Amino acid sequence: MSRYLKENYQALEEYTPGEQPKDGEYIKLNTNESPFPPAPSVVEALKGEDVEKLRLYSDPTMSVLKGKLANLYGVKDENIYLSNGSDDILNFAFMAFGQDGAVFPEITYGFYSVFAELHGIGYECVPLREDFTVDYKDYLKRDKLVVIANPNAPTGDMRPLWEIEEIIKSNPDNVVVIDEAYVDFGGESAYPLIDKYDNLLVVRTFSKSRCMAGARLGYAIASKGIISDLEKLKYSTNPYNINRLTATLGEATVDAEEYYQEKCKEIMSVREYTKERLEAMGFLVLSSKANFLFAKHNKINGEKLYLELKARHILVRHFTNDKIKNFNRITIGTKEQMDKLLEATQEILKGETI
Ligand code: PMP
Repeated sequence: MSRYLKENYQALEEYTPGEQPKDGEYIKLNTNESPFPPAPSVVEALKGEDVEKLRLYSDPTMSVLKGKLANLYGVKDENIYLSNGSDDILNFAFMAFGQDGAVFPEITYGFYSVFAELHGIGYECVPLREDFTVDYKDYLKRDKLVVIANPNAPTGDMRPLWEIEEIIKSNPDNVVVIDEAYVDFGGESAYPLIDKYDNLLVVRTFSKSRCMAGARLGYAIASKGIISDLEKLKYSTNPYNINRLTATLGEATVDAEEYYQEKCKEIMSVREYTKERLEAMGFLVLSSKANFLFAKHNKINGEKLYLELKARHILVRHFTNDKIKNFNRITIGTKEQMDKLLEATQEILKGETI
């Protein structure tokens, strides 16, 4: 740290992204990426001339991509905001709407507390229920920015839409952010409620169900007012927040919706298969509507299992937080990848009983 850094950033605890190893081939089940490539039409969408055109700025209004997404969801262009990954939108949400403080679950996406700290926002972390689910009643009439990942991460718990609506309805003077990074894997989106509630901000991403984490593309669906607030922050920080290549790939992705729906179905079916197999080995596996499972075994601690799998070139995500340190979050890959994980896990567990 240099002596020039502003005092309020000095104690900031940064977010720790999952490992992206460079020391060889891994089965990567640690950052909830898709095991599938983008649709063939997306791969073909980039042409040499797109690279030549990189000398020009991208369209700051992103009107083509906005129009396509608006059409896909049956909303207006004015209800869509696009960004360089959904983390960027979450950052803006805290920056723009956190004036009364924020509230979110104690076990959830680790970036929320980082954004709150970054913007000097007081925040409250509400414990989950015993079974690691979110109790919607904890978020009623809070008069703060409410942030809920639905499905939640790293647990995979999905709250029904009526519970989400209760939260939105009971906090009319504050924005309620529903982070739907994982909603396409069996969840129900809250976006149809944007016409009814002008305080709802739905945040989504192309990183998971649309197989494009590396392109960095996120979007929000909300009332016209909230979208114009986000645009205001964009035009005050980085108007060209999406590069030309990503915009082209994003447009082709929306056009290939069927391919992605198929891939989501495949992930959901491999998820249930993996859950059953892990349970048969004695794991406690939380019910998940995301592209990952959260699991623990009472014969081996979470960190040891993570390290043993890593030694076999299989990466899962381990968190050090006391309440979840015996769990690992396992991204759903292809069936072949999951079979390798299951085989390795079986072998590791055998070693534990000796
Ligand atoms: N929300 C949640 C709950 C996540 O797990 C992630 C991925 N780490 C994100 C948002 C951010 O995704 P991205 O910035 O790639 O859109």
